[in-house]
Amino acid sequence: MSKHLLNYVNGQWVASKAAEYLPVINPGTAEHIADASLSPAEEVDAAARAAAAAFREWRRVPAPDRIQFLFKLKRLMEDNLDGLARSCTEECGKTHRESVGELRRAIENVEVACGIPMLMQGRNNEDIAQGIDEHMFRQPIGVAAMIAPFNFPAMIPFWFLPYALATGNCFIVKPSEKCPVTQQRVFELVDQLGLPPGVLQLVNGAKDTVDAILDHPDIRAISMVGSTPAARAIYARAAANGKRAQCQGGAKNPVLIMPDADMETATRILSDSAYGCAGQRCLALSTGITIGGARESFRECFSEATRARRVGYGLDDSAETGAVISAESKARIERLIGVAESEGARPLVDGRGQKVPGYEQGHFVFPTLLDGVPHQGEIARTEIFGPVFSLMHAETLEEGIAMVNDRAYGNMACIFTASGAAARQFRTEVRAGNVGINIGVAAPMAFFPFSGWADSFFGDLHGQAEHAVEFFTETKVVVERWPKAWSRKF
Ligand code: NAD
Repeated sequence: MSKHLLNYVNGQWVASKAAEYLPVINPGTAEHIADASLSPAEEVDAAARAAAAAFREWRRVPAPDRIQFLFKLKRLMEDNLDGLARSCTEECGKTHRESVGELRRAIENVEVACGIPMLMQGRNNEDIAQGIDEHMFRQPIGVAAMIAPFNFPAMIPFWFLPYALATGNCFIVKPSEKCPVTQQRVFELVDQLGLPPGVLQLVNGAKDTVDAILDHPDIRAISMVGSTPAARAIYARAAANGKRAQCQGGAKNPVLIMPDADMETATRILSDSAYGCAGQRCLALSTGITIGGARESFRECFSEATRARRVGYGLDDSAETGAVISAESKARIERLIGVAESEGARPLVDGRGQKVPGYEQGHFVFPTLLDGVPHQGEIARTEIFGPVFSLMHAETLEEGIAMVNDRAYGNMACIFTASGAAARQFRTEVRAGNVGINIGVAAPMAFFPFSGWADSFFGDLHGQAEHAVEFFTETKVVVERWPKAWSRKF
């Protein structure tokens, strides 16, 4: 593959006429692996027009025929899974095992969308009045676009793409400019599907390309995943332009550790949540609130697990934690650890300034455990997006829940306990859209919606499952009457 990534528009690979390209860097090796074009507005326009033209025919292709393309896509993704996973690792730094995991979830969304002939069924009532029936149909909205973040380069477009396609829409993917390579490979598979030109398209770029998408009159719906400031801005601009939008934002996910929790199991699960994917999951747990007597035992177990975690290049089998996305990100994370210290926190394990032998140029931050992070401070509220876990303490479950609810984000909250009553109280009262009970990464399966709340989500309908089906369809209600007297006699 050439280093200059291409756009895929109207069924053709096309080189962008962008004046500028951004280098894509392997964060584990610092090697320059590709260049992402900053596609200008004319190229977004070409894709949107091709999609609008394709939509006229595509929406009338029967749903059972549309899903045949998804069955084929699933097979191609299975056959190419290892290569796609390697590409994820090379561009975003996570371990190969983690990349395989994200590919599995991407494929799972394809599988779920294959149920669209049933999932998009409407409903009806006979005789709402004498001789009158009423029906509700679901129809595709037209052209939709998705704007992706860097941290799951394979999976996140698939929270939307299979549902948009299956419900009869045309769809444009704008990958992250930091990690655009895996979608290029995914579209090499899309190119083999034999879809009508314009149904699925890929346009590379960054903010200006996104703005052209948000302002384009032919694009009716926007799905976006990224940081909260970007999600908020994109949601506002899409809504101001009369578009339907769903924008998933950032996170700062807390976990309560109750004194009755099995500390060994909790530690094993939580260290993977906090330090897996180098802390760059929107469902990474980053704050541990110990309750009552859990403080000492958890601190001791977790310090040991933090020190033991193996950091390395994602394609090396032994690595448990890979690189963070960039040199800037590494510098920011290390600076924020310093801010925590200035707020009175104590690093029990300090991962700053360390190198992985053989990968000295890589952007690695080693797992870091901070104790005594003040609840009202900056670090308690800032999404660090790195392998840094903050410890806090509360005396009671109620106090812990109040701390969880006193924050802007609402992506995920978890509890570790042996008490069903405590778990039930937590599940009921906590202000978060994804809840884990003795689970460290409560990632909804593809047949459930990905339910972020508060500053972690702008919109009404989330990605995946029936929410995605509703998002990509409009309801049409038909009220009909057929008086017998009008019928011709045969
Ligand atoms: P980001 O916000 O920098 O970029 C996300 C996308 O938005 C990119 O495609 C980028 O080109 C575009 N973008 C960024 N700023 C923009 C602007 N001002 N105007 C228009 N477009 C803009 O996010 P990132 O660094 O790529 O990803 C990490 C973030 O994503 C973290 O905050 C993480 O929590 C979040 N995230 C959230 C979820 C979720 O489900 N809630 C999932 C994954 C990642």
